[in-house]
Amino acid sequence: MTQLQSLRGMVDLLPEQTCRWQAVESLARQHFQRWGCREIRTPLLEVTELFARGIGEATDVVGKEMYSFQDRGDRSCTLRPEGTASVVRAALQHGLLAQGAQRLWYGGPMFRYERPQAGRQRQFHQIGVEWLGVTSAASDAEVIALAWDLLADLGVDRLALEINTLGTPDDRQLYRSRLVSWLEQHENVLDADSQQRLRTNPLRILDSKNAQTRELLQDAPMLEQSLAADSRSRHQAVLQALDDLSIPYVVNPRLVRGLDYYGHTAFEITSDQLGAQATVCGGGRYNGLIQQLGGAPTPAIGWALGMERLLLVLEAAATANPSGRAASLVQADVPDVYVVNRGEQAHRQALILSRQLRSAGLAVQRDESDSAFGKQFKRADRSGAPVALVIGEEEADRGVVRLKALKSTLSEPGDDQQEDWSINDLGPLIAVLQNGANSERSETTQG
Ligand code: ATP
Ligand code: MG
Repeated sequence: MTQLQSLRGMVDLLPEQTCRWQAVESLARQHFQRWGCREIRTPLLEVTELFARGIGEATDVVGKEMYSFQDRGDRSCTLRPEGTASVVRAALQHGLLAQGAQRLWYGGPMFRYERPQAGRQRQFHQIGVEWLGVTSAASDAEVIALAWDLLADLGVDRLALEINTLGTPDDRQLYRSRLVSWLEQHENVLDADSQQRLRTNPLRILDSKNAQTRELLQDAPMLEQSLAADSRSRHQAVLQALDDLSIPYVVNPRLVRGLDYYGHTAFEITSDQLGAQATVCGGGRYNGLIQQLGGAPTPAIGWALGMERLLLVLEAAATANPSGRAASLVQADVPDVYVVNRGEQAHRQALILSRQLRSAGLAVQRDESDSAFGKQFKRADRSGAPVALVIGEEEADRGVVRLKALKSTLSEPGDDQQEDWSINDLGPLIAVLQNGANSERSETTQG
C-alpha cells in the first residue's frame, strides 16, 4: 500500500517544533496580558459572504486563495483565510462593542490556496490582535509597540518596521482616479496581473513584484499627494508617538496592504532573513470594516503575525547567537531529572520514585532499557537533564538513590560529586531538585 501524505501546503508540526511554538505562544500570552488584550476564539469555518464582504471581492485572498465549498446544507462555507473579519463578526454578533472598546487577541490556523514555498503554506498560523473602538493616533503606535516589544522579547533581531498612511476613503478615491489615469497611459508596460488590477484593485499594483512594473512605478503619482491635511497630521502624530516610544521605522509611501479594509495607518514588520516572504507581521487601521459588516461606524486597528515566518527568524537568531534569548527559546524541552536504574529491585523503586517526583511537578525521564550503566549515562547526558538519579541493586538494598550531576551542568569533567538521598523520605531530595529546576526555568523565561 502506498504511504498516505499530507496535502500540499499542509504541514505537520513535529515534537521538536511544537515545543518551540509553545515557547513563543506562552511568551505572546504574557505580553497580551500585560497590554490588557483578552483572547477570542472563533470557528475555523465561516459563511463565504463574511470574507467576500469583509476582505473585498477584488483582493487576491478572496479572488484566488479561499478554500470554499458547499456544505451538506448547500451553504457556501469558507475556511478562514485571516482572523479580522471573524473577530469583527463575533464582536457584532455578541454585542461586545456595547461594552466599550475591546482589546482582543486570537491565534490559530488560517487557510489560503497559495503556491507553497519557504514561509508560505496553505495552512499557516497567525497570532493577531484587534483593538475595536480605539481611535487615537497614540493607539496606532501602541498596537505597533505591542508587536515590536513581543518580537524584541523573543530575541528576534534584524527587523524593520515600515509604515505608511492610506488616508481616508475620500483620499484613496482621489488617489485612485489619479493613479488610474496615469497608469492607463502606460498600460502596455504593465504586467498582465497589474493590467487586470487596473480595473479591479488599482492600488494593489503598487505592491507588484514584477520588476518592469516596479520600475515604471518609480514615476507614478504618490498617495501622499492626495492626502487631506487631517490625514497628514494624523500620520505625523502616529510617527511622533513612535519616536516617543523609541521605535525605529521607515516611512514607505508604497506600502499598501493586500486587504481592502485598511485606511490611515498601514504597517509591516519585515526581516531580511526570509527572502521573498519577508513580512513577519502586518497590520493597520480599518475604521470602515465594522460598519461594512453591519455594525455602527467604529474605529479599529490590528495586526497579524505569521507564526511559521516568525519561527524561521527565531531559528536564524538562535543560530547567530547560541547564548541569546532566541536560542534558549528554540531549545528542546529537557527533563529536570534522568533516572538511571539497573536490576529488578532497582527497577521497581525507580518506577515508584519517578511517579512521586512527577507528582511534585518535576519532568522526569526514566531509562527503561536495563542496559549497562555506561550506556544509560550516555543517554542521560544526551537528554540535556542537569542531574541523574541513580539506583542500582546496591542502592535499592540500602533504600537510597544517588544524585549525580550530568554533563550539561558540570563545569569541569572531574567535578562530579555524588550524594545519596533516602527514598523513604523524599522531601529533602524533592526540594533540591525543584530548586535546580526553577533556576533553569527562570534562565529561559527571563533571558
Ligand atoms: P504576503 O504578501 O506575504 O502574501 P499578506 O499580505 O498576504 O502576506 P497578511 O494577510 O497581512 O499577509 O497576513 C499577515 C501575516 O501572515 C503575513 O505577514 C505573514 O507573516 C503571514 N502569512 C500570510 N500568508 C501566509 C502564508 N500563505 N503562509 C505563511 N504565512 C503567511
Ligand atoms: Mg498574501
